[in-house]
Amino acid sequence: MFQTVANFDRIGEENAFAVLARATDLARQGRDIINLGIGQPDFKTPEHIVEAAVKALRDGEHGYTPATGILPLREAVAADVAKRTGAPVSPDNVVVVPGGKVTMFAAILMFGEPGADILYPDPGFPIYRSMIEFTGANPVAVPIREENGFAFSAEETLALITPKTRLIILNSPANPTGGVTPKSEIDKLVAGLAKWPNVAIMSDEIYGQMIYDGLEHTSLLSYPEIRDRVILLDGWSKTYAMTGWRMGYSVWPTALVDKVRKLAVNCWSCVNAPAQFAGLAALTGPQDAVHAMVAEFDRRRHVVVEEMNKISGVSCATPKGAFYAFPNIKATGWKAKPLASALLEQAGVATIGGPDFGIHGEGYIRLSYANSTENIRKAIARIDEFLQANI
Ligand code: PLP
Repeated sequence: MFQTVANFDRIGEENAFAVLARATDLARQGRDIINLGIGQPDFKTPEHIVEAAVKALRDGEHGYTPATGILPLREAVAADVAKRTGAPVSPDNVVVVPGGKVTMFAAILMFGEPGADILYPDPGFPIYRSMIEFTGANPVAVPIREENGFAFSAEETLALITPKTRLIILNSPANPTGGVTPKSEIDKLVAGLAKWPNVAIMSDEIYGQMIYDGLEHTSLLSYPEIRDRVILLDGWSKTYAMTGWRMGYSVWPTALVDKVRKLAVNCWSCVNAPAQFAGLAALTGPQDAVHAMVAEFDRRRHVVVEEMNKISGVSCATPKGAFYAFPNIKATGWKAKPLASALLEQAGVATIGGPDFGIHGEGYIRLSYANSTENIRKAIARIDEFLQANI
């Protein structure tokens, strides 16, 4: 028989993909399924972005590009990030990658090995922990608490740092909770990090432009005192409804960027060339579609919160960012994963059980409101009906 390396026995996955597969299966069997499980905008990529890719294909952009991305695109990323964060960003520090996940993969591979600690948010994007375990590093969960507005706590994060800590993963606005960490808390964390100059920070800001109630996104790159150890993860997937294009970017400290370039050369060579032209059009073209999409998510967010809070045993905090709500279902008496599974199989509503995002996710389910208001209302009515019959 084959003998594969042990790392592959430790690799996890994202249950959202399994839920999507099951929901698709059920729909194929003729069941009426409403999907509040998947984490992708239900909008099409704006037309001018699609056209830029088509034009690039017709213009013969069919070959390899530089491993870190075409220069005009890296320049556009640098300008866009600089505008939004106030940080001076050089195109030389930008790496265009096939999706935000690849930044995670590169950063965690770079710092993770047996004996190293990596801090990550729990509940949080499941791939963080999966990749940390893959490398053999020790995953250290930073609890993300509802009573803290689903923001990360600087105090709790700092208390978990030890001389073994190599990397801290942060995510705001957050998946799966919709939490946004206030600037005051980030200020405290950054101040505390002065004591730990060898700790790197990967800041996953992929939902940075999906933020509500007039709140402003605070980027970790906006702090000059830690800029030389921040890896910024961002991309096109969520902001421009481009999940299937596989387009992400990262900004790396100068000391690390060449290592990523080499990883790219070894692994993916470069991102699909026409997609890079689409990414360029996204950043340099009109932003109306982004604003319209965020405004629509904002409206749906209120519908989800209002309707979920009418259900007996459920309380749903108002998410401040991203397009997820993370209702608390503890008073229903259900555990989250069996509930999510029963909702899909019996009520025809796909959701994700909180424990799929970490042990601190027990007692919650994640609802993605990347679906029409009509479907959201219908789905929540089904959840209500199911719980009334099954509490
Ligand atoms: N980071 C977070 C917090 C996410 O929720 C996701 C996708 O769901 C990603 C990164 C990955 O994005 P991409 O599809 O660009 O790989």
